[in-house]
Amino acid sequence: MLWWHWTKEMKNWMSVEGSGPRGTRLWLPDIASMVRERLENTGELKEEHNFSDIGRLVTRQLSDTRGGTGSMRLSEAGKCIRARAYSLHHWEKNGHGRDAGSSITFAIGDITEAFLVAATREALSGNDNVVLKNAGAGQKEVYLDIPINENRTARILGHPDGTMHIKNPDSWESQHPTINAIFELKSMSDYGFKMFRKNGLSNSDPYYAQIQAYMLAETIMTEAPCNWAYVMAFGKSSSGMEAHINNDGEWWKLFPLIGQWIPADRDFQEGIFADYQRLLTSTDVEQFPRPHGPAIKGKNKGKLRFPCSYCAYYKHCFPGSYQVAEESKWLQKVDKIQVVVPEGGMK
Ligand code: SF4
Repeated sequence: MLWWHWTKEMKNWMSVEGSGPRGTRLWLPDIASMVRERLENTGELKEEHNFSDIGRLVTRQLSDTRGGTGSMRLSEAGKCIRARAYSLHHWEKNGHGRDAGSSITFAIGDITEAFLVAATREALSGNDNVVLKNAGAGQKEVYLDIPINENRTARILGHPDGTMHIKNPDSWESQHPTINAIFELKSMSDYGFKMFRKNGLSNSDPYYAQIQAYMLAETIMTEAPCNWAYVMAFGKSSSGMEAHINNDGEWWKLFPLIGQWIPADRDFQEGIFADYQRLLTSTDVEQFPRPHGPAIKGKNKGKLRFPCSYCAYYKHCFPGSYQVAEESKWLQKVDKIQVVVPEGGMK
């Protein structure tokens, strides 16, 4: 493949910091920009979409029966290890729980995901360099087999939002003409999205562990390296009027969909594997000290914050804890687009 050919087709590609032995930068597609371009040019559908599958995704929260204990999922790889131990050892859930309101929130997330998967498939339609597979209702099941002892293994399942095959622009010098990747969609709250836009995912973010677990599972299952994941995030609280203002006072409208390429992190993946082994060979929750706790100073002293305030087991973990309702002023600086009427504009 000649370079000029790639430069023409790589209008929406980005240079990403690589990992591994080469440690160099790599060109990968900026899928959020491609989706934006497709959304700015609405028109006839180019792909076949399975509308009954989309309908099933939209209504699945009405029949969801999850909420049991004792099972583990790869999507929970970044969850507090002690909370996972409570679940594995079948403790009764007595903290924050799912209710009617959260069913609506999850359903809106499913609807958003169904729309963005359809929009991504449309954006990539006819693009042989970037192929999205196993997305939407046809998600692939991946797993990690965790040895418990000489005779027993536990299989931990996961369902990435999609997998991708990308033609490596460096294929003329690479051992790997195709880059295998995980595709993950996230609807984020105002604060989470702002942080994602500013810094991307850090390795302390639960989503980071989830996608590392998926990359590891895909690599082991396919026996082909899956060294990348693309996380595409939607800011669900966006008003459509947020702007970025640079130091020269120039501004432009912010798009509420952005993505980040994340390389495989082998040390982190080994830690995920080891955590599952520790959990599966444990006999008691107290083998896992509390990694989080209440604020120790400030006006929130004594109060549990995320993730504990959203934990299904906080009353076991912090006996005597209880809920109160109080006014919260959690103001964030936001640059917003305003519409100004010039003097005399009302004549
Ligand atoms: S309350 Fe906090 S520390 Fe305790 S299990 Fe839940 S998340 Fe972990």
